[in-house]
Amino acid sequence: MTKLRAGIVGAGIAGASCAGTLAAAGWEVDVFDKARGAGGRLSTRRFEQGWATLGTPFVSAKRDPFRSQLRDWVRQGWVSAVRGNVWQGRATISWAEAQLQNHYCPTIEPSQLVRKLLGSARLHTGHRVAALKPRTLVLEDGRELGDFDCVICSVPAPQAIPMLDALPLLRERLAEVRYRPIWSFLMRWDGGPAADVIKFDDHLLNLAVRQPSGGPGLWSVYATHEFSETYLEASEMEASNRAASALMGLLGLPWPVEIEASHLWRHARPENPVGGFWVGDRENRVALIGDGIAGVGVERAWESGLRLAQAILQSKEELAL
Ligand SMILES: Cc1cc2nc3c(=O)[nH]c(=O)nc-3n(C[C@H](O)[C@H](O)[C@H](O)COP(=O)(O)OP(=O)(O)OC[C@H]3O[C@@H](n4cnc5c(N)ncnc54)[C@H](O)[C@@H]3O)c2cc1C
Repeated sequence: MTKLRAGIVGAGIAGASCAGTLAAAGWEVDVFDKARGAGGRLSTRRFEQGWATLGTPFVSAKRDPFRSQLRDWVRQGWVSAVRGNVWQGRATISWAEAQLQNHYCPTIEPSQLVRKLLGSARLHTGHRVAALKPRTLVLEDGRELGDFDCVICSVPAPQAIPMLDALPLLRERLAEVRYRPIWSFLMRWDGGPAADVIKFDDHLLNLAVRQPSGGPGLWSVYATHEFSETYLEASEMEASNRAASALMGLLGLPWPVEIEASHLWRHARPENPVGGFWVGDRENRVALIGDGIAGVGVERAWESGLRLAQAILQSKEELAL
């Protein structure tokens, strides 16, 4: 019997949870991502001394089924509850007392978590998809990959819209979705608060998270949306110098703060997602998932992929009856 086939655009958490669920049910699944690896906003940077993240620092679960997925990751030793101190304003409070409780940090590279979710799905990195057509993916080099039983797109809405000229019903559903940007930086400094997380009460900086790998004193620093919008077209040097000087002022640090990397996430967080878990064009066998549909955060994105895969599997079972 020939296997059913799915083609998925995007190997972030939404695409991976969908791909892994279909692959586990016996589908032949090909996932295409323009990046060099899986992860999307859960991707990592590698250094000689280890790895660090400029994307999502925390994972949290409000409800099942993600809560049990998270418990499973804890059992596997892939994530652990954040137990350090959070420094907020002038006081150091224990994490359990802070508003950020129920937060977990990956203990393995976040991108590896996503990689594991893919299961037996085939990942094609460095493959940018240019357009979607009924049952078909068109790659940037013009190659058309067709005859899929289902084509699924899991990229942020502003990146999906230009791919959807041949599928106007889906394109219209995304028209109102807006994202806000986040500049993030890897910085290294000595001293400062004896904390693992710093929550700033500031209009320029939002959060700093100590990195478990990558050597001593390495932190991921996240700017606010306001900062990120102001510096949207700035160079990396200009944005990171501004962030470093804000940081030193807030923490009273002397020079030098070393800036090791920076990244602008233009599509960091959707403001007005479509709602539900997925939207589909049943006739053309194309569906959209991800946080632009289901709402911001790892939990919602993961669940959107899972729910679509479950709906596809169920509809195929019904057809078979
Ligand atoms: C700085 C930052 C901090 C965050 N903090 C948190 C947090 O603490 N907790 C939390 O729950 N959430 C957080 N989020 C949000 C969370 O990361 C996202 O909601 C979630 O990861 C979205 O997953 P996704 O699979 O929908 O999209 P993505 O992870 O963006 O995956 C989309 C994938 O599609 C690929 N792609 C795009 N275009 C193409 C193309 N044309 N062809 C092929 N591939 C393509 C991309 O390379 C990417 O891998 C944060 C996000 C950012 C940016």
